[in-house]
Amino acid sequence: MFARTLLRRRRAATVAAGVAASAFGLSSLAAADSAPPASKLAKKESGLGVSFEVNVSPSQLEVVEPRIPDDGLSPTEWRALRLESVTPLSHNTAVYRFAFEDETASSGMRVASCLLTKAAIGSEKADGSRANVIRPYTPISRPDAKGHVDLAVKTYPDGKMSQHIASLKVGDTLEIKGPVVKLPYKLNEHAKLGMIAGGTGIAPMLQVIDEILAGESAFGKDNTKVSLIFANVSEQDILLKEEVDRRAAANPSQLEVFYLVDKASSPDWSGGVGYVTKQMLAERMPPPGSSGRVFVCGPPPMVVCGAKGTKEDPKAQGELSGMLKELGYAKEEVFKF
Ligand SMILES: Cc1cc2nc3c(=O)[nH]c(=O)nc-3n(C[C@H](O)[C@H](O)[C@H](O)COP(=O)(O)OP(=O)(O)OC[C@H]3O[C@@H](n4cnc5c(N)ncnc54)[C@H](O)[C@@H]3O)c2cc1C
Repeated sequence: MFARTLLRRRRAATVAAGVAASAFGLSSLAAADSAPPASKLAKKESGLGVSFEVNVSPSQLEVVEPRIPDDGLSPTEWRALRLESVTPLSHNTAVYRFAFEDETASSGMRVASCLLTKAAIGSEKADGSRANVIRPYTPISRPDAKGHVDLAVKTYPDGKMSQHIASLKVGDTLEIKGPVVKLPYKLNEHAKLGMIAGGTGIAPMLQVIDEILAGESAFGKDNTKVSLIFANVSEQDILLKEEVDRRAAANPSQLEVFYLVDKASSPDWSGGVGYVTKQMLAERMPPPGSSGRVFVCGPPPMVVCGAKGTKEDPKAQGELSGMLKELGYAKEEVFKF
């Protein structure tokens, strides 16, 4: 009885802390390795002329809700969002900016999340209408970006949704629902993150990198170090390279990037050539058994860590295999996006 009351009180304190933290705009507050052992006082103006003080211990800050109201997107209803602009990234990939109805709204997304797109572009039904096609995409805009959400979408020659999105004109709408949380990132949870991305697999990695670089809480900065291996077909296919380089240049002690292309065409190419190797992983990823974790997204999964999903659940992580397993990583040390 006493234990239950204590638990309830503790939960109430956690919720109160979460609500207050949201009001503060303090993101990703979580129990951190580097957090002070005892409780700590957080104080911040609410923006409404009221200041709050919360006396919370790090262990009460494990559950973190989205920091901002999710009025741009809805996780339960489809919203027709207007295409505001298209910015080409490569010969087959572009950033599509979709506007929220309310230009002051934001996505309210928790990193790392994706969203769902829907269009009636599937096979023809008996009544002449078309079946819905639904595909997930990973926003590359920040959760607090006002008025829009950005998607980097690669167009496949026979791809239903990617062709549809590429055919949209500015002003057209696309039905979008979300966010769908994939991996709730916690500040300072790991000393080092290894990332292995291929092509558009950079999108969830960028979300996490941005969260780390922006991450601050009542306990200080997010000190997580990131080592990214970003594999693409050619130099011209490297998506968002400028964006990635800009972040690495501004944060050299926190973000290290190794580009890899199947085949290099320029003699000046300074990155790697060929496919990901065990040696590359051993050199750049946090070692197995450390307080690190390895994220994988994009075409490499089969050889690097094995496919995602099981017979029963396609969304499950599935068994770990491939090079990461051979290098001694445990299943829990790897996350397949
Ligand atoms: C959680 C999640 C997040 C994602 N985020 C993004 C994102 O941010 N940006 C993005 O561009 N995509 C992303 N994708 C992939 C996206 O959901 C679609 O699968 C992709 O756009 C293809 O859909 P489609 O309808 O155009 O092609 P489909 O009609 O499904 O497929 C047609 C053909 O396209 C080719 N094809 C389809 N997908 C791939 C692939 N991944 N690799 C190689 N060939 C393929 C195949 O030849 C296939 O036969 C994500 C997927 C997941 C699961």
